[in-house]
Amino acid sequence: MKEAILGRTGLKVKVLGFGGIPIQRVSEEEAISVVRRCYELGINFYDTARGYTNSEDRIGKALEDVRDEVYIATKSGRRTAEELYAELGTSLENLRTDYIDVYQLHNVSSVEAWEQIKGPGGAIEAVYKAYDEGRIRHIGITSHNPELLAEIVKEDIFETIMIPYNYLTPKPEEELLPLCQEMNVGIITMKPFGGGAFSNVNTALKFVLGKENVDIIIPGMMTVSEVEENFQVASGSHGLTEEDLGLIKEDKVELGSEFCRACNYCQPCPQGIPITFVLRAESQFLKRMGWRPGTEERFAEVIEKASTCVQCGECEGRCPYHLPIMELLPEKTASLARLLKARQASITVT
Ligand code: SF4
Ligand code: SF4
Repeated sequence: MKEAILGRTGLKVKVLGFGGIPIQRVSEEEAISVVRRCYELGINFYDTARGYTNSEDRIGKALEDVRDEVYIATKSGRRTAEELYAELGTSLENLRTDYIDVYQLHNVSSVEAWEQIKGPGGAIEAVYKAYDEGRIRHIGITSHNPELLAEIVKEDIFETIMIPYNYLTPKPEEELLPLCQEMNVGIITMKPFGGGAFSNVNTALKFVLGKENVDIIIPGMMTVSEVEENFQVASGSHGLTEEDLGLIKEDKVELGSEFCRACNYCQPCPQGIPITFVLRAESQFLKRMGWRPGTEERFAEVIEKASTCVQCGECEGRCPYHLPIMELLPEKTASLARLLKARQASITVT
């Protein structure tokens, strides 16, 4: 598999890395097998976050005996020095290590967050302290806002950036990626599958792998077969076939740019509305899995729940893609209600 130097960190990484979100959703045994399979295949960059519940702990258990052969990246969403320093201690303990290769400030997607981080008592102070102590080897930042991230990169503090990048989220190509290349900042890209929205994962992966200015891509992987499939794609040719281009075109028409990437930053909703599920129920859940036992009950439940939206706007303020959630919710709910009615009618007829 192709290797890259991760910008000014100098780390030599395989172009396919491991994204640690999905291993939260399987048993510990399965999670460890998945991480271990990555290691056996030569994948050497493992990304997680303090916010991903047990992901750090599972990666720590899986890689403890081979720690010096791999690079571990984690993140903190804390904005004050005191909180971040405490959280770093937890991450080190969970990961069973005394250093983090790339420590990242997590989801810095607003000017306010960035001002707080670099202001007096802000998180960056703790990052520098931990760096001086050798507990952090390299400093990175993650964001869903490529324009803001480009401005932050210009301040010349970070050695790596992480940003969502895929064929329906191409904004980073405009300024951020060329800027990082010019400044020798390592480029880690996430969300190659658009949060599971795209019709073919191999096409989506090839699209990003084929980009010269991406150092590592870190798809989330939950099963050993997903690891093996991604590994095969990453090890092969990354040229897009006519069929791939056709699939990309179809996804562009079907999804447009206003589609939910399942990042869940809009949560929690004070009314307890499962926003991500409502927005994706038809285009993702039903399209991929069809009507299964329990689907009708689940739809009926979320339709009722979505009707309690008080239009407070909290979710929209947190959505990094600026989706008009308050407009989309009633549209998607009405569509789900129509589908449910049609389904119930067809069952009654048969
Ligand atoms: S606008 Fe509606 S969906 Fe969004 S957070 Fe408020 S109540 Fe929840
Ligand atoms: S609505 Fe926005 S914040 Fe919420 S999951 Fe979808 S993309 Fe993420």
